[in-house]
Amino acid sequence: MTVGGGKLLAGRLALILTCLVWVAQAQRVIDADKIEIQTVQVADGLYVLVGEGGNIGVSVGSDGILLVDAQYAPLHRKIMAAIRKISQQPIRYLINTHHHTDHVEGNEAMAKAGAVIIAHENLRERLSAGDPSPGNPARATPPAPKQALPVLTYSDSITLHFNGEEIYVYHPPPAHTDGDSVVYFRRANVIHVGDLPSSIRYPRIDTGNGSVDGMIAAADHILQIANQDTKIIPGHIGTAISVKDLQEQRDMFVVVRDRILSGIRAGKTMEQIIASKPTAEFDERRKGRLAPDGFVRLLYQTMIRR
Ligand SMILES: [Zn+2]
Repeated sequence: MTVGGGKLLAGRLALILTCLVWVAQAQRVIDADKIEIQTVQVADGLYVLVGEGGNIGVSVGSDGILLVDAQYAPLHRKIMAAIRKISQQPIRYLINTHHHTDHVEGNEAMAKAGAVIIAHENLRERLSAGDPSPGNPARATPPAPKQALPVLTYSDSITLHFNGEEIYVYHPPPAHTDGDSVVYFRRANVIHVGDLPSSIRYPRIDTGNGSVDGMIAAADHILQIANQDTKIIPGHIGTAISVKDLQEQRDMFVVVRDRILSGIRAGKTMEQIIASKPTAEFDERRKGRLAPDGFVRLLYQTMIRR
């Protein structure tokens, strides 16, 4: 065998191994039998479905049903049953807030149920190519089937006039990922923000394509368009938070980022920065799976990537 042939074989083997890793990691165990879907009304004709994975926003009315995110594929049957308890109207649209599996794995089934999928153009690229997620291999996903891909993509913003609502969907510069969408129901004064800073937990950032400064900028922008009465649907933990909660989370981000930055500038290693406990005064109120040390590591890795 020639050297070139060997390289080709090695390349193919690497590709096969990558695909195997994708498949293994994509098969996260979701025991649909053990998960109940809770339905919470947040405004007239607007609901949140909580199951496992990202909170689903549901707009119901005479035009049909519009969804924001679709959670995990094995939960589809239960999600549909929960929707059918609210409305018998046809499923018309599904907007994806970003490409992570816990928000989009149900896409294919929702498309088959009639949904036209709408998302930012970068999300479509990431879903169709698959995401090896080098910063966090546990989040790697294989290329999605064609029916799971958005049919309508946009670059800056798109507005849907549906169920008497003006649904303004816009893309902030890279924040949680580089394909985030914020979904603003103007009449109801409700904003579904996906995994941008919102829930009172330490938020994750996609270390491959997200940005710490972007998370802060996205929070600032949401705070600009929101008012004191705006309800914010977070991607996880809780169904609606207030503008005050979002402000607190944004302020926490700024403090922790600045501390990590001064550690980096002083020549400290990641372990030294983690040991300096830059999140200390915020830890007590933050719930969720990401521990303080993990959050600092994530921010550090995202910041040094620049
Ligand atoms: Zn996410």
